[in-house]
Amino acid sequence: MVKSVLISGASVAGPTLAWWLHRHGFTPTLVERMPGPARGGHAVDVRGVALEILDAMGVLEAVRESRMQMKGVSIIGEDGSETWRSEEMTISGGRFDNKDIEILRDRLSRLLVADLPEDIEILYGDSIETLTDDGDSVAVEFAKNGTRQFDLVIGADGLRSNTRNLVFGPDREFLHSFDIALAPFSAPNTLGLKDWQISYRNARNDGYMIYTAPGNEELRVCFQVPLTLDDGVPDRAGQMALVRERCGDLGWQTSHFLDAMEAAPDFYLGLIAQVKMPHWTKGRTALVGDAGYCPSPFTGQGTSLAVVGAYVLAHELARSRGDHVSAFARYEAKLRPFVAQNQAIAELTRDERFNDPEFYTSVIEPAMDQAKGAIELKGLS
Ligand SMILES: Cc1cc2nc3c(=O)[nH]c(=O)nc-3n(C[C@H](O)[C@H](O)[C@H](O)COP(=O)(O)OP(=O)(O)OC[C@H]3O[C@@H](n4cnc5c(N)ncnc54)[C@H](O)[C@@H]3O)c2cc1C
Repeated sequence: MVKSVLISGASVAGPTLAWWLHRHGFTPTLVERMPGPARGGHAVDVRGVALEILDAMGVLEAVRESRMQMKGVSIIGEDGSETWRSEEMTISGGRFDNKDIEILRDRLSRLLVADLPEDIEILYGDSIETLTDDGDSVAVEFAKNGTRQFDLVIGADGLRSNTRNLVFGPDREFLHSFDIALAPFSAPNTLGLKDWQISYRNARNDGYMIYTAPGNEELRVCFQVPLTLDDGVPDRAGQMALVRERCGDLGWQTSHFLDAMEAAPDFYLGLIAQVKMPHWTKGRTALVGDAGYCPSPFTGQGTSLAVVGAYVLAHELARSRGDHVSAFARYEAKLRPFVAQNQAIAELTRDERFNDPEFYTSVIEPAMDQAKGAIELKGLS
């Protein structure tokens, strides 16, 4: 009988899963390698059925109140002049006339963690070192907290999942890289933007995104650099040098923002990739969210898949009364079509017409609208 569940990762999938497992009578424990709740990060979207799940958790209104407050978007050229604008949508968040929520990832994560019942244990600043599944339970050796037994272990530890590496195999087997990395960071709002997004494109159609954080004191700037899975990931200084080298000639205010990058407390460089696996479960271990089926930021659906995947896994474990073998099988069967449809969006958003507003509204938006609701959930009320 399954009772204790260790969840590695406390960002989006991890706390959502912990909340639902606790609600169904399990005893979840979270382990998170960061020293405390999430800090910094980019804007993510919560859409479609994921909103219904947050609503059922009682956290939807708080998430909505913390959302981005965008009023529109401009595309600007090399001389800084506007070539297109909309007050009806942003490129990252879509149209304003729907219920989708765009929110900074750290804010969402903090709200989900704050919403957890107090008796859920969270081990910050620690990580799983080894996992030994003897068929009846899993012995987990932590870097700092010794060795403990759990009935199940769930990896919710993101694109470069530690759990996946320990149990299923190395990144190379499952990561499908787009050979691009995103480098988001915070910068002072020297442009004086108010609740606004800018897509800067130079004459070669290269550029980067800028948008205001809620309150308008800070900008989030997001450069893109070519990067492959084979490129070693250098340290922070090396990553910034790489961004400088590969983005230095983009024009407009690029050198100003490269200087701001050096001072940013929350800079990071993340490879853009999808995770594709034949199975998300093995023995007493399962993967949820980006760890198992990252769709990549090219789809804008990573956060919603993490929320929906966590809900479905908890629901199936509850339904099978802790028989993890049948629960894992149903989790995979239920979620796979939804994941496939959402991962396919990346084909559209990588099309060279992505920045053409007509293509965006006639092709990309309808595909996203369909994909975000393409799963029927039971047990939500
Ligand atoms: C630049 C960028 C832009 C994005 N834009 C969007 C967007 O517009 N819309 C959208 O929906 N999604 C977007 N995403 C994706 C989105 O952030 C993820 O899909 C979503 O956060 C997945 O949640 P998760 O909980 O599965 O994984 P993550 O949010 O990646 O969380 C993994 C957690 O595991 C922790 N962890 C890692 N290793 C260990 C370890 N060894 N031990 C313990 N803990 C560990 C991490 O610290 C982290 O807290 C974007 C991602 C990036 C990088």
